[in-house]
Amino acid sequence: MTTATKTASTSSVSASRLLDGKCILVTGGSRGIGAGVVRLLAEAGAKIAFTYSSREDSARQVMETLPGSGHQILQMNLTSEESVQEALDQLTSNWTRIDGLVNNAGITKDGLLMRMKTEDFDEVIQTNLRGTFFTCRAVTKLMIKARAGSIVNITSVIGLTGNAGQTNYAASKAGVIGFTKSLAMELGSRNVRANCVAPGFIQTEMTDVLTDDVKSAILKKIPLQSLGSVEDVASAVKFLLSDESKYITGQTLSVNGGMHFN
Ligand code: NDP
Repeated sequence: MTTATKTASTSSVSASRLLDGKCILVTGGSRGIGAGVVRLLAEAGAKIAFTYSSREDSARQVMETLPGSGHQILQMNLTSEESVQEALDQLTSNWTRIDGLVNNAGITKDGLLMRMKTEDFDEVIQTNLRGTFFTCRAVTKLMIKARAGSIVNITSVIGLTGNAGQTNYAASKAGVIGFTKSLAMELGSRNVRANCVAPGFIQTEMTDVLTDDVKSAILKKIPLQSLGSVEDVASAVKFLLSDESKYITGQTLSVNGGMHFN
């Protein structure tokens, strides 16, 4: 092996262990993007606690695929302040620090405004926005004490562009962006960072329900001409949790194949 190739392979090993020893909490890790995030962060050397709301079996299956040790699963319903607090209490009874938080769990309840039920509006806001407030408030106490931490909130391209039939979802995701910018301002002096990742259309259960016609209409708007993968989103999350992004806060990193430039 030449010196040049030795150097290249050494740096690629260290790049893949970007999160060695970091303790990271991920909400909604039982499937979809969250499961991909959990897997990639564990591969990068992090110790992971991840949540599910109702699909415990699915969470256990994800757990079985994780490399490393010390990972744990927590039940958490983001619409309930008590449930979030209980999960956080359980976590901090054996973790003394939380280096990273990924607010990934989210739902849609689509419908045109004229026909949207109040409960469908409320549930989306409560899960996606108010839930993010609960977890951030709980976790930042520990991060401020440690004078270190990185929060990554998963928003959506829809929070940037809006979308007919998704007033509730767009409001929740735009809210998360404003929330995150404010948090970055509040916590910067304590060396705690807060950023968003805004996926475009990613291949998951959330997009599996789209008809072929809707999918082909979407693909026409994407310069890179494909849906994204969960790994595409997970890579952006990993970067923002790592010290490679230590001078980046208050930003929204779009992972959308070019369908919208923010
Ligand atoms: P999935 O529907 O595949 O997974 C949702 C996750 O959230 C599951 O782990 C689920 O737990 C959890 N969850 C649902 N409701 C609650 C609740 N009330 N309290 C706590 N956890 C809950 O979602 P995706 O992977 O598709 O999306 C993940 C994130 O990415 C979301 O925030 C979404 O808005 C965003 N996003 C997704 C895009 C996509 O194309 N898929 C595009 C842009 C953004 P359980 O398994 O137990 O039900």
